[in-house]
This record gives sequence, structure tokens and C-alpha cells, in this order.
Amino acid sequence: MCSSAVMEQVRTRISRRAFLGATGAAVVAGVAGGSGTAQATTIFQAQGGSLRIHDLSHTITPQFPVFPGAQPFSMATDATIEEDGFYRNNLSLTEHVGTHIDAPAHFDADGVTADRLPVENFFAPVAVINISMRAAQDADAQVVVDDILAWESRHGRLPSGAFVAMYSGWESRLSDPDSYVNQGADRALHFPGFHPDAADFLVSKRDIVGIGVDTLSLDFGASKDFGTHNTVLPAGRYGLENMANLGRVSAAGATLIVGGPKHVDASGGPSRVYAVEGGATRGMPGSLPSTGGGGMSGRR
Ligand SMILES: [Zn+2]
Repeated sequence: MCSSAVMEQVRTRISRRAFLGATGAAVVAGVAGGSGTAQATTIFQAQGGSLRIHDLSHTITPQFPVFPGAQPFSMATDATIEEDGFYRNNLSLTEHVGTHIDAPAHFDADGVTADRLPVENFFAPVAVINISMRAAQDADAQVVVDDILAWESRHGRLPSGAFVAMYSGWESRLSDPDSYVNQGADRALHFPGFHPDAADFLVSKRDIVGIGVDTLSLDFGASKDFGTHNTVLPAGRYGLENMANLGRVSAAGATLIVGGPKHVDASGGPSRVYAVEGGATRGMPGSLPSTGGGGMSGRR
């Protein structure tokens, strides 16, 4: 990731982000002036009209399912107001619990770690690809290239710097962690994800910052080779897993905001993720049908 081509991409991206910047500042000011609490959908007035804020992160609990072999979340109270005058907890967790980032370094020894991902990649027009009908019938359903092309036929070419999210409806299983992980009698896991061919299409034929899923893994559960992880992450893009509330977000036109982890050498980590849409976000890249030049293919 050190070629002049990459630097050119960074320059292109930064100039595009400059256009995003003014609205982003308005969004932050609106949050600061509001209650500070984020519900699934909050409506408040900001300059330019009302915005809808979607909280795309789940609350992490000790019961939150993790990939088999990973350490579940635990929390121990370290201080209480009654005894110490302040409240504090110690946490123990895998980086890959709850709604979390997969950094390129998760699957690429030369990949960037989450703490070093460019911050401009955390503000992106988001495309939501809904495969919930198919996933309801088939736990092994995957986002395929045709799903992306079908999205583009309705909403226009994926905008430059897009984040592409799969909505499968799988979060309805979270209250039953076993059914969310869904390990079959064959020992394989069964939940939806991105097909590696779709991942390859996105990183080589479109310009994306990352992909996200409302399941435990970017790859579908039955994957044996993590082909999607091995395509997206070594290409310098990031993943988001266990995303929440994607069913509430418009298929096109919303802006993703990722509050990523920043501990040193992070392979990933729990993240607070939002989608913002309506009002002042109208006209942002996600709502434009064909701003994607597609000229950023083959970045590695
Ligand atoms: Zn992960």
C-alpha cells in the first residue's frame, strides 16, 4: 500500500471528503446539542432540516455470541459510587465481539491496523443490499454480484468511497445466541454473508472503503476458506460485523459514520456505528446516482 497510485487515491478521496466535511460538522454539532443518547432512530432539527440517526451498533453483553473459539465479553465492577465515590468497570473481551471492525491487519500481515485506518474512510455513503427474503429461506444465502448490479439498476452506480452493507435480518436471532451462530449437525456454521466473487467485484470493479454484515462474519458461516475476508481485508478495506438496525436504513442515500477503536496494533474492535440520512445529508454522495468513477480499481 505504498505506491504512487495509492497516494493518488488518497488525494482523490480527501478532496471528495472535503465536500462531505461541512455537513459532517453540522451533524456533530447537532449531536452535541441533543440529548447525547442514540436510539434506533432519533429525529432532531439541524441546519438544513431534520436528520434521522440510526444506531447501527448492538449493546455488548456477556451473552453476545462470538465466533467459536473467541473469548466472550466479561465485565467486573472495579469501583462503585457507594464505596469509592465513582463507578468503573474492568473489561475482558476479544476485539471481535459485538458490532466491530475487522481491520486489514486481521487477515493481512502487511495490512493496516484499526488504529491507523484513515479517518476519512469512517465517513462514507452507505449502500444497503437487502437479502432478507432469501436469508429467511436459506441460512447459507450470500450477497452475489447480481445483487450488487440489481442495487445499481435501482439506485445508480455505487458512489465513490461507498460502504456496502448486507441486510439479512439475522439480528432477529440475537436473543437466542445459539440460533445466531447456528452451528449445524455438520459442525459448519450457517448464516448469511458476502460471496467472495461479490467481494472481488467490489474491490476490483468499484471504489469502496469497506463492507458490513448483520451476521457474525463477512463470509457466510459455512465458508471454509474465508474467501471474502481474504479478498476485502488484504485490499486495504475494512469490515464491520454484527451490524444493527440496517433494516431501518434507506437502501441508498444515507451516510455511515464509524467510531472505530484506537488501541495500538488493533486487528479490530467494538465500534459505535451510525447512519445519518435526510435533511442536510441530501445531495451527499450516497444519494447521487453515478458519481462513482470506478477508476480506483486495482489499488493493490
Ligand atoms: Zn471480526
